[in-house]
Order: sequence, then structure tokens, then C-alpha cells
Amino acid sequence: MNDSFVAANGLNGIGMTSQRTRDRLIARLQDQGIRNYEVLEAIRSTPRHLFVDEALAHRAYEDTALPIGHNQTISQPYIVAHMTELLIEGGPLDRVLEIGTGSGYQTAILARFAKEVYSLERIKALQEKARKRIRALKIHNVVFRYADGSVGMKDKAPFDGILAAAAPSDVPQELLDQLSVGGRLVIPIGEREQKLYRITRTEDGFQREFIEDVRFVPFRSGLR
Ligand code: SAH
Repeated sequence: MNDSFVAANGLNGIGMTSQRTRDRLIARLQDQGIRNYEVLEAIRSTPRHLFVDEALAHRAYEDTALPIGHNQTISQPYIVAHMTELLIEGGPLDRVLEIGTGSGYQTAILARFAKEVYSLERIKALQEKARKRIRALKIHNVVFRYADGSVGMKDKAPFDGILAAAAPSDVPQELLDQLSVGGRLVIPIGEREQKLYRITRTEDGFQREFIEDVRFVPFRSGLR
């Protein structure tokens, strides 16, 4: 397939969603310290422009969060890549729980690294769109649930990885309880000033590592 065929058939996106634009994003992530080749490859080959409204598609390969409606945002590619790295560094991922499906973009990336991904979202309209996108991309190892993520997903626990895409003011105990031994929770904590942590369950407790300062949408309780 030559380049013009690919462009004409929309397989690779055109203009601002072209392969060259995507490669520039990968270079930027590398500059920012993302080293894991498989993570970079997952970002390179996941069509982020399909996870935002068409009007924003031309900005999909910028390294920024973008609005997805309902006062929520699709996460910045750097943070998606970094959180994914933090989860997979600790060992193989059988089951992963994601809190805050949003657009489904992080879900699509996680689905490459875990056998099963369970993704919770409290805004029905966002969940439905995400489900359609994941189905259109023929990703089959994701289960979506419309639920408040603060209680996790007890019936599928324990998880080797839990990733939260919204920031609570404190670590929800239920999420810690649902980690397997060796499992890790990657979560932003705080209100105005948020900090990203990786918390690993050990034989005799939890080990907490501060990762970096971050900005996420707030973690909210209840359904909408
Ligand atoms: N990684 C996602 C980020 C979406 S923004 C993406 O790239 O698209 C965070 C999402 O978390 C929002 O959709 C918000 O509705 C959801 N959220 C916030 N608090 C939640 C909770 N308690 N339970 C489930 N989802 C929650």
C-alpha cells in the first residue's frame, strides 16, 4: 500500500492525524522520558483522533488533554504513557481495573498490556461512546461497567493493576483492598495540588512511591 492509497482511504488519517504527526508525538514522549518501547508503540498505533469529537480531531496528536464533554477531558498522551509504564513495570498484568473510562483512550492502551480490562465510568453518555469506539477498534478484552469507582469492582478483584484517571482527595481504601500481592495502584491524589502515586501491595502492607505533580479532573461520587 502506498502512502496516497492509505491517505485516500482514511486508514491512516489525513493532515493533522497523519503518520508523521503521530511520529512527532512519539518523539515528544521520548523527550519527556517515556522509554518503554511497547508503550510508545501502543501510542503510535492507537488512533487518538477517534476518541475526540471530529471538530477536535486535528489536535488529537498534540500532547495535551482535550475536552470530551460533560466537563471531562481525554488525558494527555504523556500521562497515559507514563501511567501505563508505571503499571507494567511491576510485572505481568492479568486483570486491570480502570476508574474513569472517559473517552476510552487509556482503556484501549491498557487493553494491549492486560489480559482483561475492567473499566468503570460514572457518566453514562461518556461510557456509551467509549464502548462504541472500543468495539469499532475490535478490542475484545474490555468490560465496561456504569458505576461509581470509589468502591472498585469487588466481584472481579483482586487486580494486578488499578489505574485511576480522576483525583480523589485520599486513596480509597476499597481500591487498596482489591489489589493482589504485588499489584499496584497508580492514582492522582489531592484537590488543587495533585500528586501522582504508585502504591504497591506487599506481603505485609503497602509501599507508596511519589511519582510527580499532575493535573486531573476530580474524582466524584455517585452516578450521572
Ligand atoms: N483516561 C480517560 C480520562 C477521562 S477523565 C481518557 O483519556 O479519556 C476522568 C473520568 O473519570 C471522567 O470521565 C469522569 O467522569 C470519571 N470519574 C470521575 N470520578 C469517577 C468515579 N468515582 N467513578 C467512575 N468514574 C469517575
